[in-house]
Amino acid sequence: MKAMMPPHWTERREELAARLGRVPRLLVATDFDGTLAPICPRPQDVAMPPGAKASLEALAEQPGVRVAVLSGRALAEVAGLVGLAKAVYAGNHGLEIRGGGIDWVHPQALACRPRLDAAAGFLEEKLRRVEGAFTEHKQLSLSLHYRLVAEHDLPRVEEAAMLCAAAFPELRRHEGKMVVEFRPDVPWNKGYALKHLLKRLGLPGAAALYAGDDATDEDAFAVLGDSGTTLHVGANPATLARCRLRSPEDYAEFLEWLRGLRIP
Ligand SMILES: [Mg+2]
Repeated sequence: MKAMMPPHWTERREELAARLGRVPRLLVATDFDGTLAPICPRPQDVAMPPGAKASLEALAEQPGVRVAVLSGRALAEVAGLVGLAKAVYAGNHGLEIRGGGIDWVHPQALACRPRLDAAAGFLEEKLRRVEGAFTEHKQLSLSLHYRLVAEHDLPRVEEAAMLCAAAFPELRRHEGKMVVEFRPDVPWNKGYALKHLLKRLGLPGAAALYAGDDATDEDAFAVLGDSGTTLHVGANPATLARCRLRSPEDYAEFLEWLRGLRIP
C-alpha cells in the first residue's frame, strides 16, 4: 500500500482541540532542530522563530502542562538554546534527561565515554583534509557533519564513517540530515526516552503530544501510536505521525493555538 501524507494539522483542528483541550494534564514533547527551530548550515547559529519560545514558555507556566524538549544535541547545549527554566530536557536522543524532578543518565552510555573520546580522535584524523567536514563530540554521542562538504569529497566522508564503524563496534552508526552519528550501541532512542518520561510523570500516552521532523522522531511517534497526538514537520509520506506541519514557523503557529486552547 502506498504511504499517504498525513493531513495538515488545521484539517484536524476540531479533533485536536477535543483531545488537547480537555486532558487535565498534558505533556508537550518536541524535537528541537528542524522542528522548533529551522535547520542551519552551522548548528551553532540556530534560532527559534519569534513566538515559538513565548508560546512554549506560556504553556510551561499553565497548570497541568509540562514541556519537554528531546534532541540529538547534548543536553546542556539544547537547554541553553531553548532557554526555558521550567522545561524538561532530554539530550543525546534521550540518553540524558534533566528537569521536572528528573536527573538521569543512561548508565551503559555513560560507560561508553572513553570509546567515544577515541572515536572522536579517529574521525578528526581521517577528516583532517576534507573541507567542510567536522565532528562534534556530544559527550554521550558523536556527530560527523557533512552539510558543507563538496560533492566530490563525499566518498571520503563515507569512507571515514565506515572505518570508524568498523573500528568501534561498541558504537552504532545512525544517519541524520547531512550528519552521521555514532552512539553507544544500547537499546535506546527518543521513543524509549519518551516512554521513560511518561512513566516518571505518571502520564498515559493519550496525554502527550510529540512533534519532530527527522527519522529519529519516528520512534517517539511509534510510542504514542494512535492514542497520543503526533505531528510530523515536513513532507515524509512514510511518517507514523497522524498530522503534518509545514515548517518550524507553522509549528510556532500551532503552539500559539495550543496555548490559547488551554487557557481556562
Ligand atoms: Mg530534528
